[in-house]
Amino acid sequence: MVDEVAKNVFRIDVELPGNPLRATNSYYIRGEDSDLLIDTGFRREECRKALAEGLRILGSRPERRNVLCTHLHADHSGLSKEFRGDGKVWMGALDIRYFHEMRRLEHRLKTRERFLSEGFPLELLDIVYAVNPAFSQALESLDERYLPLSDGDEIRVGDYTLKTVTVPGHTPGNCMFWAEKQKIMFTGDHILFDISPNITQWYGMEDALGSYLSGLRKAMKYPVERALPGHRAPGDYHARIRELLEHHAKRLRGTEEIVAEDPGMTAYEIAGRMKWKIRARNWEEFPVTQKWFAVGEAMSHLDYLRTRGRIRRQKDADGFLRYYR
Ligand SMILES: [Zn+2]
Repeated sequence: MVDEVAKNVFRIDVELPGNPLRATNSYYIRGEDSDLLIDTGFRREECRKALAEGLRILGSRPERRNVLCTHLHADHSGLSKEFRGDGKVWMGALDIRYFHEMRRLEHRLKTRERFLSEGFPLELLDIVYAVNPAFSQALESLDERYLPLSDGDEIRVGDYTLKTVTVPGHTPGNCMFWAEKQKIMFTGDHILFDISPNITQWYGMEDALGSYLSGLRKAMKYPVERALPGHRAPGDYHARIRELLEHHAKRLRGTEEIVAEDPGMTAYEIAGRMKWKIRARNWEEFPVTQKWFAVGEAMSHLDYLRTRGRIRRQKDADGFLRYYR
């Protein structure tokens, strides 16, 4: 399915089978001597087919095509290498660095260690690494045709000049792209409208949620008239930012209360007490990948409270991290 969402900007619906996000919005901007594809879907057959079909309908030619990834997540960058044609792929500089980092054994061990010390059961963690599309359907490697973007960098395509707006949090090098003339913001996953973006912990990032909330306040200053998100339908940009700020403030209060009510729990146990919009009868029945996202999100809220001195964390004799008011 392809629709024109602004002059010379087309949205391709790239389905994500079995994923609660349902689909990735790939955008295609038609230029004069080159075109730009923004985000791609997972590196798997269904996404490949949907994207290829969209590009075919648009008459896209590989020799005119460049790709832009709003962030490194596999549902955005997974097919970037296959679909860049003869062109290049731009991505936030920190996400490119992080992509290389994530492939180092030490990094993988540290992340695993952190989940285990936060109480995530070992047997579930092994399943997560085997089935989570974030690992299995991701881009395998980057090469010299991946070019880093920093805040303020511009990409020109046809009548559009896209200015890079770095908004770390959802990923370390997460970016939005601002077309000032048309007052359009490509929000990626920084601002989504009918789901709230997942904010997890990142190894080496002390306070991912704090960075994300600063990024929302930064986003607020742009006079955006139309937002084009990475998933689902668009909506009122400024109203949604206010909602997301309020959502996290409420969630932070709730997390602090859970810690106060029952001191000494692990992040895994705390996540089990938090409220989640998911069809599962209880914490035990959460699909394991969703559980992993939920614990990551609980960790980012706990990090936020802890780095501001509202709660403290202590390692017990067995190496588990436990939280106290
Ligand atoms: Zn994402």
